[in-house]
Amino acid sequence: MSEDTLFSKIIRKEIPSDMVYQDELVTAFRDITPKAPTHILIVPNKVIPTVDDVTEEDELTLGRLFTVAAKLARQEGISEDGYRLVVNCRDFGGQEVYHLHMHLIGGARLGHIPSVNK
Ligand code: AMP
Repeated sequence: MSEDTLFSKIIRKEIPSDMVYQDELVTAFRDITPKAPTHILIVPNKVIPTVDDVTEEDELTLGRLFTVAAKLARQEGISEDGYRLVVNCRDFGGQEVYHLHMHLIGGARLGHIPSVNK
């Protein structure tokens, strides 16, 4: 599996980012085009291209995405008001970077989840 995604380069610090968290399983950095006052991407260090590529071996890593999301949301001061976690999958899901990632979005009231794009 290729380790050469845009996010792998950010994880290895080969290209700059506003990194807010890193451990042995996941890395988190601020989205370069934030859609809300808080917009952080939480990414497995290992390349999993899409949700469709997830296996049982990934369960610890994928669980870590949630515990880190909750920790970062508290750090950002958005826990009590609430926030949204999003994982896009492939073309119809709006995925642009084929290295699975969770969006942590908050700091403002968010719109409804969009329905079918006609
Ligand atoms: P997705 O559409 O779910 O694949 O989300 C990809 C996200 O990556 C988008 O929200 C982009 O704004 C974000 N992004 C792209 N390049 C960078 C970068 N160099 N640093 C931080 N975020 C990025």
